[in-house]
Amino acid sequence: MERHEKTTGARRARPAVRPQEERSACPLAKKCGGCDYQGMTYEEQLKKKEKTVQKLLKEFGEIRPIIGAEDPLHYRNKVHAVFARQRDGQIVSGIYQEGTHKVVPVDSCMIEDQKADEIIVSIRKLLRSFKIKVYDEDTDFGLLRHVLIRTGRATGQIMVVLVARSPVFPSKNNFVKALRAVHPEITTVVLNVNERKTSMVLGQRNITLYGRGYIEDRLCGCTFRISPTSFYQINPAQTERLYKTAMTLARLNKRDVVVDAYCGIGTIGMVAAKTVRQVIGVELNAEAVRDAAANARQNGMENIRFVQGDAGLFLEGMADREEKADVVFMDPPRSGSSEAFLKSLLILKPKKIVYISCNPETQARDLKLLTGEYRVEAVQPVDMFPWCDDVEVVCLLTLENQGK
Ligand code: SAH
Repeated sequence: MERHEKTTGARRARPAVRPQEERSACPLAKKCGGCDYQGMTYEEQLKKKEKTVQKLLKEFGEIRPIIGAEDPLHYRNKVHAVFARQRDGQIVSGIYQEGTHKVVPVDSCMIEDQKADEIIVSIRKLLRSFKIKVYDEDTDFGLLRHVLIRTGRATGQIMVVLVARSPVFPSKNNFVKALRAVHPEITTVVLNVNERKTSMVLGQRNITLYGRGYIEDRLCGCTFRISPTSFYQINPAQTERLYKTAMTLARLNKRDVVVDAYCGIGTIGMVAAKTVRQVIGVELNAEAVRDAAANARQNGMENIRFVQGDAGLFLEGMADREEKADVVFMDPPRSGSSEAFLKSLLILKPKKIVYISCNPETQARDLKLLTGEYRVEAVQPVDMFPWCDDVEVVCLLTLENQGK
């Protein structure tokens, strides 16, 4: 699910009903399938998520009340739209209907950044005058496949990624000029080349058409650079709360050596670096690692370094070399961590592990492997995705028998 994002421009009008009490009724709900909790109030959604976490993680300890969002609407700072031509020749942009490759037209969405939605509509309107054909999956013909927009809520920066079938984008400079005339708030435009017949949105190659090719955002007092393919949490207000929760649970001190595993662009590690002796971040995506290194430089942090590679292999290496870590933050993708990673943790024996997960099912599986040696001290759900049934959970694990 790649749909939805966050706004930087004009403030939207407050709904008459507090969003928490609103029983949302999106007209596209049935077709789109992007929101799992349509028709529920936000309070009901939070209760449901608490129950899910209870069910999956209660064997590990008491579940704290979920940290809900103050404003559960328009939170997504990343919005993706697929472009298609309908049978009548009309160009539409929106989201794939769940389980199909039919495009449901979407012009605005209650969880996406509103400015991003407006930009997507503007791009669609410009296509005709620039005679840009949208890509057709069946015939493998046409140019524009998707548009991805990322916004830095705190900085107001906006990145437009045009995903095209070919690097040859006719009149690209004039197209960018025309787009920026309508939306001067756009700070960078990137052409992403995706030549393959694939359901993956982004291809490997990025060509900067305007601006710096990345945006920046600020979280927890640090500035982060975000490239088109780097992972960045999609709900910044809740991300700040998530990271603060992780830091509070970790109770870091000046002597600590910290590992930030699955670190993305280095956000968690950099927030921790202010308090500790040394941080090592490890991440598979090379572009994210480049962002992370640039972020550390830009924030003047000298006690953090980043390694590109598989987190499991990296931790195995640390264990083999008998290196030491006091605290390990781990924030793996939905599939959870690997056996190599978890087994190496049991050899390294950090005093504390802070396991952040967006999938309590795989988290429960991984926790089972750790709970012989570790005790789960806190289980804190955080709602990063209002209207969607994903739930984020931070667990603090501490080493039993620390003297051994
Ligand atoms: N901690 C970051 C990113 C979490 S998302 C944040 O809060 O923003 C998970 C990250 O794990 C992604 O950046 C993904 O590229 C990375 N990843 C996936 N598999 C990995 C692996 N085997 N080893 C290291 N990193 C991996």
